[in-house]
Amino acid sequence: MEMRFSKGNDALGTKNRGNPCESSLCTLCRADCQGKCETWLSSMVGRKLLYPRSFGLVTAGANNTTHLGVSYNSVRIQGYAYGASGLNPGLTSHPDDCIFPNVNLETQFGKRVKTKIRMPMMTGALGSTFIAEKYWDSFAVGGALIGIPVVIGENVVGVDRDSEISPQQDRKGKILRAPELDRRIETYLRYFDGYGAIIVQLNVEDTRNGVAEYVVDKYGDKCIIELKWGQGAKNIGGEIQVRSMDYAMFLKQRGYVVDPDPSLSEVQQGFEQGAIKSFARHSRLGSTNLGTASQVQEDFMNSVEYLRGLGFERITLKTGSYGMEELAMAIKFATDAELDLLTIDGSGGGTGMSPWNMMQSWGVPSIHLHAKAHEYAGILSAKGKNVVDMSFAGGFALEDHIFKALALGAPYTKLICMGRAIMVPGFLGANIEGAIHPERRADVNGNWNELPKTVLEVGKTADEIFAGYHDLEKKLGKDELARIPYGAIAFYTQADKLGCGLQQLMAGARKFSLNQITRSEIFSGNRETAQETGIPHVTDVNNESAKKILNS
Ligand code: SF4
Repeated sequence: MEMRFSKGNDALGTKNRGNPCESSLCTLCRADCQGKCETWLSSMVGRKLLYPRSFGLVTAGANNTTHLGVSYNSVRIQGYAYGASGLNPGLTSHPDDCIFPNVNLETQFGKRVKTKIRMPMMTGALGSTFIAEKYWDSFAVGGALIGIPVVIGENVVGVDRDSEISPQQDRKGKILRAPELDRRIETYLRYFDGYGAIIVQLNVEDTRNGVAEYVVDKYGDKCIIELKWGQGAKNIGGEIQVRSMDYAMFLKQRGYVVDPDPSLSEVQQGFEQGAIKSFARHSRLGSTNLGTASQVQEDFMNSVEYLRGLGFERITLKTGSYGMEELAMAIKFATDAELDLLTIDGSGGGTGMSPWNMMQSWGVPSIHLHAKAHEYAGILSAKGKNVVDMSFAGGFALEDHIFKALALGAPYTKLICMGRAIMVPGFLGANIEGAIHPERRADVNGNWNELPKTVLEVGKTADEIFAGYHDLEKKLGKDELARIPYGAIAFYTQADKLGCGLQQLMAGARKFSLNQITRSEIFSGNRETAQETGIPHVTDVNNESAKKILNS
């Protein structure tokens, strides 16, 4: 039996370089990839990729009709033959108004302060991994132009050799200089126009280094601060790989766990001989001194109070694919503390340094985690609590994923977080820019000397290649457009495809604004998925009302 994603997709004319996983992306996504999965190709051709290729010459049939196992690919989307709800003011229920381009994708999240976004999407946390650093401009500029939140992940200051941290008492530091963190924040803010937000994460080392204090002093409430419990990729905190002894020693001195320990003479000898080729820098586990849920709650509330005291108006929490107890704690504590967003990341994608078999086998898969998140939020809501807004993450790349996850968590889910999927346009754009403009290749971290056939089939210049180019030119003007990286244009183009696809799915479900999406807009493709998610099986949904019609 065929799964939804195989290596080649004849209908779209796409082909994965490696083996596709649940998200549709390859298990290993390479920055130098010459294509051409759906995400890669849509970063150039945009919304055109919503449709099968060779129109006029073909017919096409879906292959996702056999739903195996419990995953988002075993959830289907509801459509209706009548009705229209959530139309913008000024629109009527006349068919001329009820067209998919009139579906409103704007929304907001937050408790005390609302953060507006142009579409229900945000980036995953891109932290100290080198791939995040190299392509940051594409992610930040692209995200700001789209009008969505972009998250700066953990350890950015700690691994920056140009940062200066002065040691203080109680193992706390005070940041005197943080050029890489500044670059990341300022790149986003340059194009921020009131929609979206820049979010800065805090892990154990960041807290110790004084990242929150630095950010609030320098940027005030322009940034959202995010407490981090974990992620979907791994349960031991962030890691990077370094290949120089010098840098490994620097990180060790900065207080990180570096493995193997570069200060040991036998390790230094092994490195000199070539037997040890790299080091892994690890972060610490949080809350190791706490033994009970109530201690965790007290500690959490103290942290939130401290951050509010520093001056942060907006605070969020990111949790990973821990079990049910931690999920309940995250939802309850974030609700009680009136946080602005809770991102719940299911297993398990990462940016390159998560142990592979840990990614394969640790934690709660996304759909199970998200289904329980909805159930637990409902318990709090029934008690009269104003439940924290949520973002779901873990294995999302396509427009139907956004719709399904929003519906599964409705009404609590306000946006969907994508990590690996939004990095693809960053890589691709940089490669195209470096090939067309060799003088910029090193600056943009392009991996190609020339455009491959897969790109030349689309075009030779940026204005021919990127479907979003002219839209951005109108928005920014020629001069400003010339200043932004091609990766940002590719990200904008990909987001346009995702947004348009989402508008189409919503119009089919007769929901013209995001707050109209409910769990009734999806059904389960098999009985096991129905049992695990609480979303009824396709033939059970509206079965009773159907029979009433027949018997009337
Ligand atoms: S861009 Fe990444 S996910 Fe897409 S085909 Fe290439 S390697 Fe695979």
